Amino acid sequence: MAPSSAGSTGTLPAVRPYRPLPQEVLPECKTAAVAAVSKALTWAESDGAEAAARLGGGDHGRQLALAFRPLLRGEVASAMEPIYPQYGGLDDNRATASVMLVGRQLLLAEGASRPRAREFVVDVRLSRAGSRWAVTSARVGVPPRPARPDAAARELLTNGRIVLPEPARADVVSGGIGGEVTGLLNRLSSRWKLHVQVLRTGHPVNVFGTGRMSNHTRGRAVDIWAIDDTPLIGSPRSLWEPVVIEAARLGATEIGSPALPRGRAGLPPVFFANATHADHLHLGFEQSRR
Ligand SMILES: [Zn+2]
Repeated sequence: MAPSSAGSTGTLPAVRPYRPLPQEVLPECKTAAVAAVSKALTWAESDGAEAAARLGGGDHGRQLALAFRPLLRGEVASAMEPIYPQYGGLDDNRATASVMLVGRQLLLAEGASRPRAREFVVDVRLSRAGSRWAVTSARVGVPPRPARPDAAARELLTNGRIVLPEPARADVVSGGIGGEVTGLLNRLSSRWKLHVQVLRTGHPVNVFGTGRMSNHTRGRAVDIWAIDDTPLIGSPRSLWEPVVIEAARLGATEIGSPALPRGRAGLPPVFFANATHADHLHLGFEQSRR
């Protein structure tokens, strides 16, 4: 599609390239995930229709372009800034992975002098062959419709100490996030500023590599990638340990972190740690078994 009013449309700012943070687990895996999303969401003077070619062409490129379609419409130019690529799962052999990328898409409409921005989340699936990671599929998180959030959800939406990317905010606005999670975040925010990666939208439906439904899908879990503006990855345990201890005291029953916390004696056995959770805290609530 040729621009019909050449000269009147502005330009997109240069976006900073992605650099993995120090001590990321398998930084090459995250780099491959971000690169694929960047290819899909970077175009100029077109409608994004040739995304399949940007994604490598052939059936695989067409399939990936189809997966990214919710983010490919409308504007004459698009660029992408990653916010954070967090693991949604990593298998024990470190041969397959889910990387949930939260990012910002800058979109320039025809005739507009400035871009508008929207935040998105994509669950990128990858597999490893030797030392090389290849994207096998992707799923853009499509936020739910707004509904009637309850009081705890409304409090969370105005809580400046809980940073919610747009898809997670939409989850809260939809009323689909349980009161345990919204209440927990509000209470933790009195001591910490927490950066949420995902609530429901964008998270794998099932716990990675299993057929078991994730508590994220039920609106009963949250992933947190940074505390007080500091990413978990590469940080000492003093950053996150007090948060998980407090979350357990406040009733969370499913707590994943980079390592098992000290100071957990006397608390219920709710803690787990693995490579997937090296870059985030998972705070969840099992469904009541009554
Ligand atoms: Zn989680």
